[in-house]
Amino acid sequence: MKTQIIDVRAIPLELTLNRVFGGGTYAVYSRYTLVTEVRLANGALGQIYGGDEEKHQKEVARIINGPFRDLLIGQDVFDVERHWEAMFRCSSLNLVNRGIHTLDLANKAILMQAIAALDIACWDAIGKSLNKPLYKLLGGYADRLPVIAIGGYYGDGKGEHEFADELLCYKRTGLAGIKMKVGRLSPADDAERVRFARETVGEDFIIACDANQAWTVEQAIDFARRVGGLGIRWLEEPVQWYDQLQGLPEVRRFAGIPIVAGQGEISRFGCRDLLLAGAVDILNVDATIAGGITEWRRIAAMASMFNVSMAHHEEPQVSVHLLASVPHGLYVEVFADPARDPLWFELPAQRPEIRDGFMHVPQGPGLGIPLNEHVIERYRALVPA
Ligand SMILES: [Mg+2]
Repeated sequence: MKTQIIDVRAIPLELTLNRVFGGGTYAVYSRYTLVTEVRLANGALGQIYGGDEEKHQKEVARIINGPFRDLLIGQDVFDVERHWEAMFRCSSLNLVNRGIHTLDLANKAILMQAIAALDIACWDAIGKSLNKPLYKLLGGYADRLPVIAIGGYYGDGKGEHEFADELLCYKRTGLAGIKMKVGRLSPADDAERVRFARETVGEDFIIACDANQAWTVEQAIDFARRVGGLGIRWLEEPVQWYDQLQGLPEVRRFAGIPIVAGQGEISRFGCRDLLLAGAVDILNVDATIAGGITEWRRIAAMASMFNVSMAHHEEPQVSVHLLASVPHGLYVEVFADPARDPLWFELPAQRPEIRDGFMHVPQGPGLGIPLNEHVIERYRALVPA
């Protein structure tokens, strides 16, 4: 069988950023990712990178290189649903001492990220075997998507002058907008930052706001009302994770701005609960965390039935194909500052073209993102998985 899987491998990468990037509730010092490979008998190599996991990355790699490798070797890569189910059902895993209780007490996102990495690598190998770009295999709705920068971070010594430079740089380089950080200051002070951003970029530039779960329901509504009239495209994760099902519908009712959440979910079941609660206008589930492309398609289909659009969280090299494959995909997002995500600038041998506010979907087979082997070697984690 030419499309038989003959090898599976995960390689953890890690690097320290040159400066710290502050969000509403956190600071980012580093970039981690996992390169996952699925090699087929026909010579095709599914090879992707994704995920940005610090504490548990080596555990994710250990699951891929151990029990998941044993499950997939000898299988036909095309049977993604069967592979997904085999990886998801803990009865297929050798959990050894204490079995299911080990999983109950563990971070289940480790399991879902391991499934995600292998599932996406399988889809890349399928695309390469058929010589078709992934978004075409998945439905092929659009050939390009509007692209926005993730930016507007807080930083020591970053004043209005530096923020204006950042905003105008994004505009000059052909991006359609910015998703800026809010939530670290009071709702009133953050609303002033947003007003400054709007006055700087003008009306024809998308501005979305991401609070990273910084606020109470009351604070989120207060902020939303203060930025009313500024044309804010969406407000992302305004409230804490534990209050999403009750809190987000309240914010939605009174904010007057589309509400985004989902990046904290690790499966279709968590996304189902957000949809049933009427918690979101837009889901930004991360396919590299929540079970990969196979699970993302289930979530996207479910979202369409609730008239909820799809956005994403990180890893545009995967997300651009997913969002371009369905009618309700919105914008692709990139870290436009090389200091924030050096891997986006160094790891792909060829990055997707960005022009006139759009990212053009790569037309090569699979994800169409060949990786630089010397960059993999440069950032390979020192401790072997
Ligand atoms: Mg976010």
